[in-house]
Parts: sequence; C-alpha cells; structure tokens
Amino acid sequence: MLSLEGVSVRYGGLSALTDVSLSVGEGEFVTVIGPNGAGKTTLMKAISGVVPLSAGRIRLGGQDLAAVPAQRRPHLGLAHVPENRQVFSGLSVLENLELGTTPLADRAQSAGNIEHVLDLFPILRERTAQLAGTLSGGQQQMLAIGRALASTPKVLLLDEPSMGLAPSIVDMIFERIARIHRETGVTVVLVEQRAIEALELCTRAYVLTTGRVVASGSGRDLMRSEEVSRAYLGA
Ligand code: ATP
Repeated sequence: MLSLEGVSVRYGGLSALTDVSLSVGEGEFVTVIGPNGAGKTTLMKAISGVVPLSAGRIRLGGQDLAAVPAQRRPHLGLAHVPENRQVFSGLSVLENLELGTTPLADRAQSAGNIEHVLDLFPILRERTAQLAGTLSGGQQQMLAIGRALASTPKVLLLDEPSMGLAPSIVDMIFERIARIHRETGVTVVLVEQRAIEALELCTRAYVLTTGRVVASGSGRDLMRSEEVSRAYLGA
C-alpha cells in the first residue's frame, strides 16, 4: 500500500532522514517509534509531501508520489493528522469536519462520513457548533483524527497523537485508534515517542534513531529488543 525506498531528507546541512526504507501493507497498523528528534515528524511530512526528498522514492498503491504535490495527495487516499493537532481554531467543530471531506466529490458520502466520526466521538456531536480552539487538548485530538477520517482515507498518518495529553486521555485516544483500525480496516501509520503503548497497538513496527531505521519487527519482539532499550535509555 505504502512504501519508502532509500528516503533521505535534509534541512540545509542537517540530515533529518537518511536512507529510510519501509513498507506498509494494505490494512496493516505500522508504528514508527523513536526518541525526540529522531525524524518521526519529518517522515510523516515526507510521505504527505510537505518536505521534499533529497533522495529516494515513495509509492502509494504502486504510484510514485514524486510528481504528486502535497495538496493532491489526500485525493489519492492519504490523510495526515499532524503533530500538535492543528485544527482550525476559529472554525466550528462541524466546519473542521466538513473541511476534512474536501477530497470527496460525493456530498452524500461526506455527510455519512461526518455522521460516522460523530458516532465514534460522541463528545464532538455535543459540540458541533463550538469553536475548535475552545475544545480541550484531547477533544482537539479527536477532532484532528475525525477530520482526517472524514475523507475515508486509505492510509491514515498519525503524528504523535499522545503529545501534551494527560495519561487517561492518551489511553482513550489509543483505544479509539485501535477501534478505527479494527472497524474500518484503514491502513494506519502511527509515529510515537511513547514506545510501549504504540508497540502494543501495532501489527509491525520500526525504530528510528537519528534519522535511520535501526530495527524492525513485530511490536512484541521490539518491546524486548536491545535496539529499543538503546534508543530510549542509551543503554
Ligand atoms: P519530536 O519528537 O521532537 O517531534 P521527531 O522525531 O519528530 O522529534 P523531527 O521533528 O522530524 O523529529 O526532527 C528531526 C531533526 O530535524 C531534528 O534534529 C530537528 O531539530 C530537525 N528539524 C526538524 N524540522 C526542521 C526544520 N524545519 N529546519 C531545520 N531543522 C529541522
């Protein structure tokens, strides 16, 4: 469904990603874990086209994305929930969700998708008219995920959904992500600093440190791996 081959990204003189290769099969739930500054956000931005590649290739459903600008990628089924949520704070909850349906031509389908999101996150249904900027952090995260789901994506990219949230809210967000994957079959790529929780959720995972993939395997195997301890504990 999604593959990266030898992807590198540079910010001026700094290499944020070096020769990263990974693949995500249709319907898989793949997690990329790594400590602060490992390049996780850059990886998501490279996939969604927000930062240019200095080397390598990204394919979605077999199609090379090199010639597809960022604003066209949602039309191919790619939805990106960015770091720090980035909801449109001056728009209502409903307006944010409506913006999420922009890649869809079918208005009836758009309305159905919004209903589905509101079923998934009932707290948002109670607040459809409320300005997004006045929601709590957890509610904004639900809205950001809901906005991405509103386009019925094939691949859902989630950039550190736990960031800045209280532990009980993090558990709830992770539980909802697992449910979305189970119920819709959408392919999920989750990048997270919270390694243990993220490894428990996924079917397969990669470990990223200083811009390179240093390990991959099942979540269960990686939980016990030396690379993970080294990446996180410097052991
Ligand atoms: P975090 O968990 O802190 O978000 P991350 O794993 O998502 O980290 P990135 O944000 O992708 O990592 O950053 C990777 C490296 O690239 C870091 O050294 C960071 O300082 C650097 N970097 C990120 N964005 C830029 C930018 N716009 N210009 C220059 N350097 C950048």
